[in-house]
Amino acid sequence: MMWNPEMECMPRPELERLQSERLVKIVKYTYDNVKFYHDRMDFAGVKPSDIKGIEDISKLPFMSKQDLRDYYPTGTFAAPLSEIVRFHASSGTTGKPIVAGYTQHDLECWSEGVARCLTAYGITKEDIVQVAYGYGLFTGGLGAHDGATRIGCSVLPASSGNTAKQLMLMRDLGVTALCCTPSYALFLAESLHKSEDFKLSDMHLKAGAFGAEPWSENMRAELEEKLGIKAYDIYGLTEVSGPGVGGECECQDGTHIWEDMFFPEIIDPQTLKPLPHGDQGELVFTTLTKEGMPVIRYRTRDLTSLNYAPCKCGRTAVRMNKIMGRTDDMLIIRGVNVFPTQIESVIMEFAECNGQYLITVDRVDNTDTFRLDIELRSECYGDMVGQFQSLIKAITGRISSVIGIKCDVHVVEPNAIERSAGKAKHVVDLRKI
Ligand code: ADP
Ligand code: ZN
Repeated sequence: MMWNPEMECMPRPELERLQSERLVKIVKYTYDNVKFYHDRMDFAGVKPSDIKGIEDISKLPFMSKQDLRDYYPTGTFAAPLSEIVRFHASSGTTGKPIVAGYTQHDLECWSEGVARCLTAYGITKEDIVQVAYGYGLFTGGLGAHDGATRIGCSVLPASSGNTAKQLMLMRDLGVTALCCTPSYALFLAESLHKSEDFKLSDMHLKAGAFGAEPWSENMRAELEEKLGIKAYDIYGLTEVSGPGVGGECECQDGTHIWEDMFFPEIIDPQTLKPLPHGDQGELVFTTLTKEGMPVIRYRTRDLTSLNYAPCKCGRTAVRMNKIMGRTDDMLIIRGVNVFPTQIESVIMEFAECNGQYLITVDRVDNTDTFRLDIELRSECYGDMVGQFQSLIKAITGRISSVIGIKCDVHVVEPNAIERSAGKAKHVVDLRKI
């Protein structure tokens, strides 16, 4: 099913014409309205008239999270505040938060993107959608809410947390679709299976829209099995809009990016040169329709690759492969690059593990230590107490073969690792303290 087949299946030459037209407009709009873009372009020696089509995009300077921080809170807004109808802000755990401002038109484009995603997951106005992303400054809650409302679904704005109540409403209302982070979905699934009050057979879930953090294919399999659903990826970021910049289709083989609104490029994060199609690098976005806070060549720090091969579903929008992580999530342990997603993928290969893990890195005598705590499913833990050695050995061996270094694996009791109702925290790096 498609929400907007005309746009989603637009022949690529036509799509490229539309992108060109929109890029020319947005470049002139930002140059005329935002001092930041004006100065950046002048400094780079580019004039709006040099941008004649999408192929000229590489002439434009990049923009980073630091730029948004430097111009905090509204210095990169292109529309007057009287036209801004909503603010959101990123978490700001690593510095000042990024504030995003949306005009009415921006909210419409955003909910259009989410509606395309949810429709691809098979969600219609007949569905009851539980939004368990946090509501508030985080874009997850209201973003999913507006997209589901646009389709006409019955929306349950549960927000995050209060898991027992989430499960009760899910059962009693006959919720058919769940939107939340994959880590919270796993927590809900575990709670459902552990609880004496709820059974999977009482639930009516059929689809899950999971995003806001990286998750592996193995995690998908786990969520699909434990919740009896099809689990789909939804991608987005506050700086560009929010969730729904792209989403998977029924093929579950890559995340279609809604390229008529959000133009993606992949660059080498070191040289900043655009990479050939299919190569993995840093994802960069230019918003083609945003009015409130447009971004031009915004460096997301997300590492992935793009697949321009036609998709079986008929949509022509490019597909993004699963995000490996952010450049700033990458750990360098004993000189080797390690992404938490690689660890997650290995853990989920073992049926005894429940998917919860914590990586702790430290430096002792000038050598990095690499500890991995993993939880087991409660039913396995009880049976295995005192006999974890062969499992630990097997996991250590798999990690060594996937990432090339040895890891000190420990089994911990179920629920020993702190759960999050939002984005999961998988790493403690004591070397930075
Ligand atoms: P913050 O920067 O505070 O985390 P956001 O909520 O805007 O704020 O986070 C956006 C980021 O979340 C993306 O840049 C990406 O790293 C991650 N993300 C969002 N959706 C996905 C997804 N489906 N898969 C992997 N990572 C995702
Ligand atoms: Zn597709």
